[in-house]
Amino acid sequence: MRSVSVFGATGSVGENTFDLLMREGGASAYRTVALTGGRNVARLAEMARALRAEIAVTAFDDCLPALRDALAGTDIEVAAGSAAVHDAADRPADWVMSAIVGAAGLVPGMRALRHGGKLALANKESLVTAGQLLMATAAANEATVLPVDSEHSAIFQALVGEDIAAVERIILTASGGALRDWPLERLASATVAEALAHPNWSMGARITIDSASMFNKALEVIETREFFGVDPAQIEVIIHPESIIHSLVGFRDGAVMAHLGAPDMRHPIGYALNWPKRQTLPVARLDLAALGGLSFRAPDEIRFPALRLAREVMAVRGLAGAAFNAAKEVALDHFIAGELGFMQMAAVVEATLNRVSSDCSLGNAVLTLEDVLQMDHLARIKAAEAVTMVKGR
Ligand code: NAD
Ligand code: MG
Repeated sequence: MRSVSVFGATGSVGENTFDLLMREGGASAYRTVALTGGRNVARLAEMARALRAEIAVTAFDDCLPALRDALAGTDIEVAAGSAAVHDAADRPADWVMSAIVGAAGLVPGMRALRHGGKLALANKESLVTAGQLLMATAAANEATVLPVDSEHSAIFQALVGEDIAAVERIILTASGGALRDWPLERLASATVAEALAHPNWSMGARITIDSASMFNKALEVIETREFFGVDPAQIEVIIHPESIIHSLVGFRDGAVMAHLGAPDMRHPIGYALNWPKRQTLPVARLDLAALGGLSFRAPDEIRFPALRLAREVMAVRGLAGAAFNAAKEVALDHFIAGELGFMQMAAVVEATLNRVSSDCSLGNAVLTLEDVLQMDHLARIKAAEAVTMVKGR
């Protein structure tokens, strides 16, 4: 029986993963090692009971009593705190889903890779902050990293049987998010509720807002570079409002392979779960005649400064991705709290990158996880200063 663990089980990707595991037989088909979540301990306990997990872990210490109560009478172990989440990744499992949101997802994924096996990576922040280190750790342990981000799964599938050396370009599609049709002058006043109204995808709140600001696509451009090892100049972004083409790969003979499907995360999660095989998945089938047409437009880098910043981050590489991601997380926290305007998020990220790079050389090769975590910490301090500065403008 295959063993599985799910980090971030109670989130949007986690719920979709749980849905697939249950449809494929749940506890009679999989041995579930660890499930982790946050404050929603009732849901975490429900999932742990359904899959008969060995351990359920909440990331928050104060949630431990509630989790213990919810699992009373079972033999499921419980634990709490970020160290307990990390330790859960030391328990070997054949297939590990990394679906915690933010830089908090990095350590569990890195620790899981030490056992070899398969790491299904939804947590794009792992590749943005520590791409070179993560891929090297996977190679050293003969572990396989399987992309779960829909675009990267699409590219991965378009590359089956292909030689990466024959790839000329990778075209990432972007829905454009909730505010894509707003006039530029209105964007500055966009509210959290407006940024959350994603046209096609149902996802966690943070990635949904990042879709509207294109910070999500910026992270994905860096993720593409680190995962597929292509040159930044080979990566393009196109706005595709229907979210039917999940990305495209152009080859040196001029052929372009596109991956199409309904926007449903159970496709890329199911692909990673069953790889290298394909299994029947409960996703809607495409009806091209009903769709009628697909549309595309070039992204505007004035509207979406995040894309320009991603190019700058890739030019420096090293620890720049860790600084970029941390600054983006801080800016997003302040936007969600109503303390920062929508367009001010990019200003905070840019100011943070400038502040951090004046203090240390970001381009140094990333050697250890400790370097990355230290940069994450430093950039959060600098980003908090940048928030004060940007708000005072
Ligand atoms: P979410 O907010 O819905 O869920 C996040 C999960 O992480 C929850 O289980 C939460 O309890 C847990 N968590 C939050 N903070 C934590 C912390 N500090 N320590 C430990 N656990 C913590 O997020 P999501 O939308 O499911 O996204 C998860 C990851 O997958 C992100 O990296 C996101 O970019 C990526 N992703 C998501 C989608 C999607 O459709 N939602 C698509 C592509 C990629
Ligand atoms: Mg994506």
